[in-house]
Amino acid sequence: MSIFKPLYRLKKYLLNYKRNLIIGLLLIIVANVLYAALPKILQLTIDQIEKGIDVQHLIFYASLLVGLTTLYSAIRFLIRIIIIGMARKIEYQLRNDYFQHLQRLSLRFFVKHRTGDLMARATNDVRSIAVTVGRGFMFFFSNIIIFVVIIFLMIKTNVKLTLLSLLPFPFVILLVYKSMKFFFKTFENIQTQFAEITSKAQENISGVRVIKAYVQEENEIENFKNLNRRYLRENLKLAKGRGLIWSSMEMLFGLTFIVLLWVGGAAVIRDQISIGDFVAFTVWLGMLTWPIISFGWIINLVQRASASMKRINQIMDEIPEILDTDICDTSINEIHGEIEFRNVSFAYDDKPVLNNITFHIKPGKTLAIIGPTGSGKTTLVNLIPRLIDPTTGNIFIDGHDIRSIPLQVLRKNIGLVPQESFLFSETIEENITFGKENTDPKEIEQAAQISTILDDLIKFPDKFQTLIGERGVNLSGGQKQRTAISRALLRQPRILILDDALSSVDTYTEENILTNLRQLGELQTKIIISHRISSIKHADLILVLKNGRVIEQGTHEQLIKKDGFYAELYKQQ
Ligand code: ADP
Repeated sequence: MSIFKPLYRLKKYLLNYKRNLIIGLLLIIVANVLYAALPKILQLTIDQIEKGIDVQHLIFYASLLVGLTTLYSAIRFLIRIIIIGMARKIEYQLRNDYFQHLQRLSLRFFVKHRTGDLMARATNDVRSIAVTVGRGFMFFFSNIIIFVVIIFLMIKTNVKLTLLSLLPFPFVILLVYKSMKFFFKTFENIQTQFAEITSKAQENISGVRVIKAYVQEENEIENFKNLNRRYLRENLKLAKGRGLIWSSMEMLFGLTFIVLLWVGGAAVIRDQISIGDFVAFTVWLGMLTWPIISFGWIINLVQRASASMKRINQIMDEIPEILDTDICDTSINEIHGEIEFRNVSFAYDDKPVLNNITFHIKPGKTLAIIGPTGSGKTTLVNLIPRLIDPTTGNIFIDGHDIRSIPLQVLRKNIGLVPQESFLFSETIEENITFGKENTDPKEIEQAAQISTILDDLIKFPDKFQTLIGERGVNLSGGQKQRTAISRALLRQPRILILDDALSSVDTYTEENILTNLRQLGELQTKIIISHRISSIKHADLILVLKNGRVIEQGTHEQLIKKDGFYAELYKQQ
């Protein structure tokens, strides 16, 4: 059935646990045959009592009942360990796979998806799948065994009474079938709504400063309440639906009991069946109620898991846009830093952002990009580590088409410092060494010195070991940017890109950092995006970008001579 289709993906996970599944299933069979057979002993005992047995036999039957019940409980304990244990391991693997896949997806994907939603899928949805794999599997097979064994024993005892007891069955099946679509839709809504709440909470907590600065607390509380209320409403709808179905089923079974008491009682009076049979029948019917009612609940569980799996599949089916291509040349294992753009254009969906960009820069030289906000500067530099790929045109590094360079090699050799530097809630040192193993403390210090963060660091009580963020100090915007620059420098990239990465430091500090970088010589090709002419005038090539086009290019002197946009900007500053 199509609503269960998303669950096919679980097959590969389940196949890893064939042993658990087989042993679990065998134990489920043993346990439930035992369970269903207990009333049989009751029946024997009562019939014997009627005939008048001695106390010793009675004690034997009683001990048999206690013994079997204990064995049944022990096996159930084992089943839980085997099956729930398997479910937990599948949950672990599924969550790992999900995270791993997310890490491979391109920047474009993350622009389109909200963090909170992606988080909800990793937590709530993965959990709901695991619950079904564990409890769903356990109860589904237990119920089938109980059902088959009890019906078999009932038929053996009395066919007519069995048929009477099964009277409500077709109605129960109809109820379950009719309600399936409703439950699936509601589960799907609930999971989506939960993701909305997570997103809202996550964005509110991250953006708490903006909310406070714009006095939006009340508004945001109201917005959150609305989302939460919708979540509540969906949950209440589910509870109501479930309550209605379950009580209808219980009512149907209640009716059966009346029929059984009436017809069965009469049969006992007429000596057509023994009291033992009658008692066993009543107990069996009681035992059947839960498996049948919970059958609906299990279908619900599976539906919920299917709704969740659908949400996980949506992400897992996203193909990482940027991968090593078929023209990838694995013999390329280093980069010198020569960059050439040849007629490169780029569009977000249908919106053109870069238009026919062409330039060339030799290794070790400095390229500067200047232009109004939104002119495409960030987009241009994002093309170099292949965070995005051009729509048309080609990019060459050291003369190789960029797509022929293994992604690992390419990105390892590029240090990109974005304007919004992101630091983890770890120590400053861990933030600087991020992604680099076995670093020499001297190298870290040198990187910190070039980016001039060292002077600030030594004033902190724990120096490099100072914790940042939630558990530690808050760095200023400029300090964050300089820590991020240290991170890039430590990797000694052949191409260093500062995407407006000095916007929060004062001109004096900026000048110092740029001088330090210049003093490194031609170790690396540098690309500097800035709004300040002072920070780019030493560049070997300056691109002036406007509306996604290079409107002027050359050195500072050439551009001043040209007396165009750049010269105008220079005069203003
Ligand atoms: P700059 O760095 O010069 O300020 P950007 O490269 O950031 O400019 O942006 C160039 C244009 O691309 C802008 O108009 C911006 O709105 C648009 N843009 C940037 N990112 C996206 C995106 N993910 N989806 C759609 N448009 C985008």
